[in-house]
Amino acid sequence: MIKRVIFDIDYTLLKPNYDEEHTFFSKINMNDYFLNHIGEVLDYYEKTHIHYEVNDFLKYLSHYSKTSLDEEFLKCWFQFNTELKEQDVSEAVEILEYLRQQKVEIVALSNWFTTAQRKKLEKVGLIQYFDEVYGGDIYLKPYIESYLTAIGYCAPNECLMIGDNLQVDVIAPSNLGIHGIHYTQSESNHEYPKIKKLTEIKKYF
Ligand SMILES: [Mg+2]
Repeated sequence: MIKRVIFDIDYTLLKPNYDEEHTFFSKINMNDYFLNHIGEVLDYYEKTHIHYEVNDFLKYLSHYSKTSLDEEFLKCWFQFNTELKEQDVSEAVEILEYLRQQKVEIVALSNWFTTAQRKKLEKVGLIQYFDEVYGGDIYLKPYIESYLTAIGYCAPNECLMIGDNLQVDVIAPSNLGIHGIHYTQSESNHEYPKIKKLTEIKKYF
């Protein structure tokens, strides 16, 4: 019996504005290297750290950007993250309402900072459905600790995890016994369960 559902956030519950971030960074005069490689710079940080730690992360970013960055910078960045485009979250609302009726615990597990992710869920009107939001400042996926935190007091096989990233949202949690489901619009060729619409997870209840 499934007692707890763990959702990835970006590209699963909502569409983030990461592809617009260059406008934010260019406004604060970041150097070209940073502007053109922000994705890789963040990927590298996530691969080499078990979680985001504010001071360490600021030092790391200051090095790549050759700018002295402080917490105010992060605050502005997180604020920028909430400037999401108009989007239709009715499918997410439908499944979250359904899960609430089923008395299932609902949590989110994401690699970006908890503060920013909570604000985004607030912005699209989904925050009230969540018992907890676990961001990358707690633990980063695919470190085992992130999934063990997200399952709370449940056994892994009492939990379902849904996300768009096959490796971190499906394969890594499945290896721990969590039911991983790949949310994807493409015809991906793998043996893991996949759905094209979030509402398809009703069949697991
Ligand atoms: Mg995602």
